[in-house]
Amino acid sequence: MSTPLTLHVFTGQYKPIPYGEVPSWDPAQQATWPATTATLIAGHEHAVLVDALLTRSEGEQLARWVTDSTDAALSHIYITHGHADHFFGAGALLRQFPYARLVSRPETLHEAQQQVEPAMMAAWTAWFDGQFDTAPTVPVEVSADHLDVDGHLLRVLPIGGADGVTATIVHIPDLDAIVSGDIAYNDIHMWLVGSTPHSRREWLSSLDRLEAYAPKTIIAGHRDPAAPDDDARRLLDQSRQYISDFDRLAASADTAGAIVEAMLATYGHFGNPYTLHAAADSQFASPRRDGS
Ligand SMILES: [Zn+2]
Repeated sequence: MSTPLTLHVFTGQYKPIPYGEVPSWDPAQQATWPATTATLIAGHEHAVLVDALLTRSEGEQLARWVTDSTDAALSHIYITHGHADHFFGAGALLRQFPYARLVSRPETLHEAQQQVEPAMMAAWTAWFDGQFDTAPTVPVEVSADHLDVDGHLLRVLPIGGADGVTATIVHIPDLDAIVSGDIAYNDIHMWLVGSTPHSRREWLSSLDRLEAYAPKTIIAGHRDPAAPDDDARRLLDQSRQYISDFDRLAASADTAGAIVEAMLATYGHFGNPYTLHAAADSQFASPRRDGS
C-alpha cells in the first residue's frame, strides 16, 4: 500500500499592472492581475507541481515553498493551459529541481508556444515589463493521459474552452480533487475579456465536464487569497452563475459601465475588479457591437 498523497496550495498575490486601454477603469485606482495558484501533490518519494505562476519573483518564492513543503523529489511541473501567467515563472523551479520536466497536454502546446512570440510577448511586457523571464521554457508534450506519484494516479485531461482555446485539468481520484486551471475560479472576477456568447457557452460546458468527475475539492487557477475554502460545489456554482450573469448583461446592457455596476451588485466582494472592467469594455470594442 502506498503512502497517502498530500496536497498543498500556494496562492500568489494580486500584482500591480498599468491599466491600459480600459476606459471604464478609474485611473486613480491601482489595476491588478488576478492572484494565481500553484498546487503541489506529494507522496513520500515523488511530487508533481501544477502550474508555475508568472514573474521571476513568484517563481523564486514558489521554488522555496516547494522545498519547504516536501522532501519528495519533484518529477514534473504540469501546466494546465498555455497562458503565460501559469508557466513563465518555471525558470527558478527548473534551476532548483533540474530533474523535473515541464510538461503539458498536446492540446495546449500551440497556445503556449504563441505566448513567447512577439505579439504576445509585447502584451506581457506592457503588463509586467522587467519582471518576467523573456526566454521562458515552454512545456513539452506529456506522453500519457496521466502522471504518477508513488503509485497514485494523476489524470491529466483536456476539457475544453475556458479563458483560452483548450483548458486541461489534473484529476486526483485518491483525493477526490481536481486542479482546474482557469475553468473554475474562486472568489475572483473571471477573465471574460474578449469573450463571446459562443466562448461563454463553451466555458459553461467545460464546467459541466468538470462536475462530471464529482470532485469534492477544486483548486482554482485563480483564487482570492482570503477565499474561505476550495469546496467544489461552491466553486462550480459561483463560476457558472458568474458566466451566466455576465452573458445576460453583455446581451442587454447599453454600456460597459452598466455591466460593471450590475455585476458588482452581486460580486462586489470578488477580487480583482480590474478584470471585470476589462471584460465589460471588451464587449463594446468588437466590430459586431460598434458596427465597424
Ligand atoms: Zn490564468
